Amino acid sequence: MATVLDIAKHNPNAATLAVSDAARVAGFVEKKAELNVVAGAAPGGASLVGLTRDQLKDSLSQIGVPERDLKMRVAQLWHWIYFRGAKDFAEMTNVGKELRARLAAAYTLARPQVVSEQVSKDGTRKWLIRMASTGPLDKGAEIECVYIPEVDRGTLCVSSQVGCTLTCSFCHTGTQRLVRNLTSAEIVAQLIVARDSIGDWPHATPPEGAFVPTDGSRFVSNIMFMGMGEPLYNTDNVIAAIDVMSDGEGLTLSRRRITVSTSGVVPQMERLGSEANTMLAISLHAVRDELRDDLVPINRKYDIEQLLDACRAYPGLSNARRITFEYVMLKGVNDSDADARQLVRLLKGIPAKINLIPFNPWPGSKYECSDWERIERFSEIVFRAGYASPVRTPRGRDILAACGQLKSETEKLRARARMMAEQGIGAEGVYAVGNGE
Ligand code: SAH
Ligand code: SF4
Repeated sequence: MATVLDIAKHNPNAATLAVSDAARVAGFVEKKAELNVVAGAAPGGASLVGLTRDQLKDSLSQIGVPERDLKMRVAQLWHWIYFRGAKDFAEMTNVGKELRARLAAAYTLARPQVVSEQVSKDGTRKWLIRMASTGPLDKGAEIECVYIPEVDRGTLCVSSQVGCTLTCSFCHTGTQRLVRNLTSAEIVAQLIVARDSIGDWPHATPPEGAFVPTDGSRFVSNIMFMGMGEPLYNTDNVIAAIDVMSDGEGLTLSRRRITVSTSGVVPQMERLGSEANTMLAISLHAVRDELRDDLVPINRKYDIEQLLDACRAYPGLSNARRITFEYVMLKGVNDSDADARQLVRLLKGIPAKINLIPFNPWPGSKYECSDWERIERFSEIVFRAGYASPVRTPRGRDILAACGQLKSETEKLRARARMMAEQGIGAEGVYAVGNGE
């Protein structure tokens, strides 16, 4: 769903490197993430939610749990936190009272704060989540996380960084100056928050009228690393988070239902496949290096040939486990018949799906979305060559949750609300106009 999230509210802990246009033109530009929050065991008073088994073990050690009991205690905590979604140590009935008291004195089971929740008419939910403060100067980084329910699946689109160090020219996130990596716990916590909100725990019930999958599967059955940030610039934490999310004793998400999207960090791709064993999506967007250098500047470091070689070598690749190639449709830029044919030629021999994403404009963006007929024609050429080529339907447009649109739509709606208020038209009218585009 290529949901590009509207985040990077002011975070004093994050890097503040601006990228000038001249620098963009001169070559490959990458902002530096200056702050990499390293999460070990939970410090005093901190939450245990999101921690890995090793981090939980260290946290228990710190409050004096003897070495011989650690494995068993971690297993207990794991079950309560990740299988049952416990919010209070008091629920942990098979943990002795004395240890529960020690746990409660030292730690919490707090989730990151949900600043706001918006629910779309199509059932899509968007949460603005404020992470715990990382120090006295940090108010807590804010990220957004989007849940897209369908009849047979529920997909959660998560962020891996606050902002992004890369500067893809069509992506709003790429223009943000503030960047920091999310910890693995912060990545996992997005799933916990989603499950809390939609009642996706044993014995919990979904909120009234909530749209959730009806085939008996988990409400969150799929994860996409397609929110903010470049997951393969935060590979350690992304892999650690995937380990927690897919653990069979806890959150139990199938690795085959977890997709990591990368703009093409070639040296990390093999590692993702061999260590995390997830599905891979590639933000390709152009079939010629000259154009891709401009659209996805990491191409200047790792060009199309290197990228596709790394795809061919991706561990576990087969017809049953295809790579998804994302291709944003930019009017007059990358959407010709020749581009479609070249795309098919390039992908020859790679088990692939191609996702055509209608471009979502944002204030100051220099591109327009291709016309619908053009997208259909492009899709047809790709389809005739034997590739599935779905056009991604924007979801959650009324709550500004679709690809790259968030901020722009908010601003547009505000402007419209003002205009309509002046003309005496009510809020419903504003909403309807907002949706109709
Ligand atoms: N950084 C990673 C993952 C996050 S972006 C990556 O680039 O793959 C998720 C997808 O949304 C990417 O394919 C990205 O290229 C696409 N995207 C970014 N801005 C967009 C926009 N304005 N309209 C449509 N898709 C966009
Ligand atoms: Fe946006 Fe992904 Fe490019 Fe980062 S790598 S700027 S998130 S498209």
